[in-house]
Amino acid sequence: MTKIRLIIIPLLGLLLCTLAIPAQAQAGIQLVSDAATLSFPNTATFAAEFKSGVNISSVVLEYGIDQLTCGTVIAKAFPQFTAAGDVKVTWAWDMRQSGSIPPGATVWWHWLVQDTNGTQFTSPTQTIIWLDSTHPWQAISGGNITLHYYDGGQSFGQALHDAAAQALVRLSKDVGISSDKPVDIYIYANTSDLKASILYEPSWVGGQAFPETNIVIIGVSTDQLDWGKSTEAHELTHVLVGHLTFSCLGFIPTWLNEGLAMYGEGGPAAAELSQFDQAKTSNQLLALSSLAGAFSDEANRANLSYTEAYSVVNYLIQTYGRDKMTALLISLRDGNTIDQALQSAYGFDTNGLEDVWRASIGAAPRVGTSNPTPVFTPTQVPTFIPIGAAPLAPAASTPRPTQAQPSVTPVASTQPPGPAPTPVPLPQQLGISPGVLTGIEFGLIGCILAIVVIAVPVIVTTRRRNRRPK
Ligand SMILES: [Zn+2]
Repeated sequence: MTKIRLIIIPLLGLLLCTLAIPAQAQAGIQLVSDAATLSFPNTATFAAEFKSGVNISSVVLEYGIDQLTCGTVIAKAFPQFTAAGDVKVTWAWDMRQSGSIPPGATVWWHWLVQDTNGTQFTSPTQTIIWLDSTHPWQAISGGNITLHYYDGGQSFGQALHDAAAQALVRLSKDVGISSDKPVDIYIYANTSDLKASILYEPSWVGGQAFPETNIVIIGVSTDQLDWGKSTEAHELTHVLVGHLTFSCLGFIPTWLNEGLAMYGEGGPAAAELSQFDQAKTSNQLLALSSLAGAFSDEANRANLSYTEAYSVVNYLIQTYGRDKMTALLISLRDGNTIDQALQSAYGFDTNGLEDVWRASIGAAPRVGTSNPTPVFTPTQVPTFIPIGAAPLAPAASTPRPTQAQPSVTPVASTQPPGPAPTPVPLPQQLGISPGVLTGIEFGLIGCILAIVVIAVPVIVTTRRRNRRPK
């Protein structure tokens, strides 16, 4: 009996402790509400309410969009509030200050909260799609393409979807590039609807590729179906190439990027091919090394640049095949220069490529000394950078003045003024906040004391009894 008591009483104490610890843990910070509302295309407003048994002293919002990035720095915001046991906070992400994010991008956020006991709490990460809800969006999915549209009817949407899916198949078969998840294509009913979805875009914007978020947006009216098909294939190629070559190291020359996009859309129109033939005949073709940076603003020269870029890329694919093109892109992603990447994939550099390409189309030999100095101006301004986030690699398309609605890239953002980010303690792993651990520790200490208080007299009593003469 004595031995049983010796075992049972401490066990009972431990049991009571186990029951007591969750009660301690539940006394932390509670999430009452958490939501985001969109005022497209200007703001995303985050609002939440938290409760604690003591004053809440710190609330920080962490937010961003799902995209490829170079680093892991996270944007933070510090909403104003008065310390209390029940606090409501709101904070607006103002795109007019930060720059637009792509329509269809997935916005995520969560809150880091702390009270005066030192208890910390991280709310579950939530998401919302950044999209104009005034349009009755429909979606057609298949072939790793999700096409969103709201005008022109089902057959119009289906035709655009199928053209994009066919472009994906062609790019995978010929170039070796594909997407590991569906590319979202948003078809606006016209250019003005498209422009209304993005702030600070040039007046001639017709479509954009966002490789970091796997999104393409285009304004296509119902009488522009053929233009829409070729443009979405063009922008889709930019997304795939940008995704494959994404790194914080690499630089892809414009002739390769635009040449692949032209290949993706099926090649230049007859008028552009005719202009190219005339330039070849009159020995007016452009030096390939001069097409590494931004293409000319002058329409004829820009047209010739696109067609020549297509011709070179087409030569590489037709002559040397898909695998070498894939190897070239991967080599660029890994930070090699275009000359290094060409050498490793094909055994020649840019000038060597121009020589064999010129020979293949029957053009006059390259005049090395007359080559303009290459201008390595980025073909696009960097994609929007959230507050405090790491810089992104340049995105992947260039205005194509020859098209009725050329494609462009996102406009650079300016970072809004605000308090400098301050270090915030990391939330505990496994969903347990440090505050809860503090409660558990308190519970354990209390329980150990209780066990000592209960068990020690029992042990002492038992020993004393054992000493009694039998
Ligand atoms: Zn392009």
